[in-house]
Amino acid sequence: LWSQVLERLQLELSRPTFETWIKTASAERLENNCLVIFTPNPFARNWLQKYYIKTIANVVQDILGYPVDIYITVNQGDEVSDVKEQEASWGFQTQTSPTDGLPQNRLKTTELNLKYVFSRFVVGANNRMAHAAALAVAEYPGREFNPLFLCGGVGLGKTHLMQAIGHYRWEISPDSRIFYVSTEQFTNDLIAAIRKDSMQSFREHYRAADVLLVDDIQFIEGKEYTQEEFFHTFNTLHEAGKQVVLASDRPPNQIPGLQQRLCSRFSMGLIADIQSPDLETRMAILQKKAEYENIRLPREVVEYIAFHYTSNIRELEGALIRALAYISIWGLPMTVENIAPVLEPPTQKVEATPEAILSVIVESFDVSIEDLKGNSRRREISWARQIGMYLMRQHTDLSLPRIGEEFGGKDHTTVMYSCEKITQLRQTDQNLVKTLRQLSDRINMASRPHK
Ligand code: ADP
Ligand code: MG
Repeated sequence: LWSQVLERLQLELSRPTFETWIKTASAERLENNCLVIFTPNPFARNWLQKYYIKTIANVVQDILGYPVDIYITVNQGDEVSDVKEQEASWGFQTQTSPTDGLPQNRLKTTELNLKYVFSRFVVGANNRMAHAAALAVAEYPGREFNPLFLCGGVGLGKTHLMQAIGHYRWEISPDSRIFYVSTEQFTNDLIAAIRKDSMQSFREHYRAADVLLVDDIQFIEGKEYTQEEFFHTFNTLHEAGKQVVLASDRPPNQIPGLQQRLCSRFSMGLIADIQSPDLETRMAILQKKAEYENIRLPREVVEYIAFHYTSNIRELEGALIRALAYISIWGLPMTVENIAPVLEPPTQKVEATPEAILSVIVESFDVSIEDLKGNSRRREISWARQIGMYLMRQHTDLSLPRIGEEFGGKDHTTVMYSCEKITQLRQTDQNLVKTLRQLSDRINMASRPHK
């Protein structure tokens, strides 16, 4: 039967799809009207499940003349039981099994993401204070930091911390009423209440919270009626000693069109900000993620991915997921070279040739091209080399190993740490910023197409 199915699918699906997803799968014979298909890994399983199960079911029904159930699973005894867990944590499915000790029934009563717990949050210099404050609030709600106002850029863990507070409270006191809403949801509820003439129950609902978590509060900007209503909700809760936690991409005083009275309410507790994580923290986040998935990642690979994604942890995680999928689909070993194709090239680059960059460095520093490509550890030389590597990364989309080659065959980790070092330094060193800008200008001049 399976070979018949394969034949038909080959006709219906594009070649890459077939080769990648279908050909690697196998199936057992039919039992109880159920066809079990085995895939080599969880990623293939998820893709088949998500995109091709319908097609397969149709083909099988065509061949047999009656419908059967299709069940897709991973072809390794010990991995099968992990699949559910993996799906849950990779977010492939919304219906998840309980993890982190939360009983199933709570799932239905909340909107919280099961992954967003304290134990999965990596603490670094960038978020230490926000984390400590969140933990304190989770432990002693309504006491010290009320409201707790978390702010920071996109994808830096505000929602994660906020929901961790919710999970933690539930753990300790299962009966407490913990509401997590986005500002949009709050606004929509409000509008619906006005329409249905049910303001009374809207107010009762929100003012009954023990802990109210409101996400992306910056979107309240300019919504006068929402602000009005939220002001009263806030006051009622605050006066009753209930905890309010707010998250925003910027501090209250930088939200334009936020009423002054709300601004001052939002600032009366603690404003804790989250910065971009440094390389070390990014690596720790990837390590932790991999640990939860039972995947062993070579340090080199962790380093490489972490290096490429600096300011958004969601993108960092996305890159890891892509890399894992890619590796497992093609059955490749997990190496830097193999995952390079799925990582995004650096942004804000201007096309420049490696030669142009090297010659600008040679002209601007007291070094020769041989120095740059050689192994001298003299300070001036290695400084020029580091700047050169950094600029080559900025101005070209060469991979790190390729940049290493341009510098006489240096290891990609050398390139990486050079870039990281310059990136760090330029945050505090104004002179360096100026130097880099001048060098960039020269590189751009040198690279401009001439007739
Ligand atoms: P924000 O709400 O600030 O935009 P999120 O809380 O949605 O960001 O975080 C984006 C992703 O990054 C989530 O999957 C989250 O679990 C993860 N993440 C963010 N910070 C950390 C951290 N310190 N440790 C582990 N995972 C993190
Ligand atoms: Mg968020």
